[in-house]
Amino acid sequence: MITIKSARDLVKMREAGRIVAEILGRLREEIRPGQTTRDLDALAEKECRKHKVVPAFKGYGGFPYTICSSPNQQVVHGFANDEPLQEGDILSVDFGVIHRGFYGDSAFTAPVGEISLDAERLLTVTAASLGRGIAQAQVGHRLSDISHAVQTYVEDEGFSVVRDFVGHGIGRKLHESPQIPNFGLPGQGPRLKPGMTLAIEPMINAGSPDVKVLADGWTAVTADGRLSAHFEHTIAITEHGPEVLTQL
Ligand code: MG
Ligand code: MG
Repeated sequence: MITIKSARDLVKMREAGRIVAEILGRLREEIRPGQTTRDLDALAEKECRKHKVVPAFKGYGGFPYTICSSPNQQVVHGFANDEPLQEGDILSVDFGVIHRGFYGDSAFTAPVGEISLDAERLLTVTAASLGRGIAQAQVGHRLSDISHAVQTYVEDEGFSVVRDFVGHGIGRKLHESPQIPNFGLPGQGPRLKPGMTLAIEPMINAGSPDVKVLADGWTAVTADGRLSAHFEHTIAITEHGPEVLTQL
C-alpha cells in the first residue's frame, strides 16, 4: 500500500528534507583530493547531532556508517575508509535522516578536483535523468512514467541503467511501497496521487548495467569496473506538480 501524507506529515517531511540538503551541501564542500570518506562520515554524524536528527542509514539492516560513500566503480552502499580521495575520482554520497518521525533521503555524485570529460558527462547525464524522472511525478501519471523517462534519456546518451537497485516510497519508513525502477515501459503501475512521497534515485553506469556486491555484503560495484553515478531526491506529489523536498 502506498501511504498518503497529510499536510501535517508534509510539514515534517519538508523539514527532514531541508536538513538532508543542508548536510549534503556541507559534505559536498569537503570533497577534494586528500579528503577521506571516514572524515566525511564523521562530519555527517556531527552535523546530525547539530541538527538534532537521527542518521537514517547507520544500523539500518546492519549498515555501519552514517553516509554511503561510493567512489568511482562503486555504485551504492560503499563503506567509509581511510583511503584519501584522488584528483580525478568521482564520489557518490547517499545520506538520510529521521526527523520528527519522518525520513528524508538524497544522494549526489561529485567530482574530486578535475575529472575527465567522460566522467563529467556521466555526472551531468545522471543528474539530468533524475530531473527527467521528477518531471513525470505528476498527479494522474503512472508510476512507470518516471522509470521510462529516466531510462530512455540515459540510454539515448549512451549510458546504462542499473537494474538491481531501485527508488522507493518514503515517509515514516525509509523504504515504503512502491518500488521505483529506473527502467520500464510507460503507463504501468499505480496512478500518482497528491500526498505520495517518493525517493527517485537513478544509478547510471558508464558501461554495462551489471553490478556485483563485494564480500562485505554491502558495497555494490559495476561488474565491468567502469564508473557509476547516483543522484537522488525525496519528492512529494502535489496538485501543483512535484515538490522536491531535499533541495534548498
Ligand atoms: Mg539514498
Ligand atoms: Mg533511497
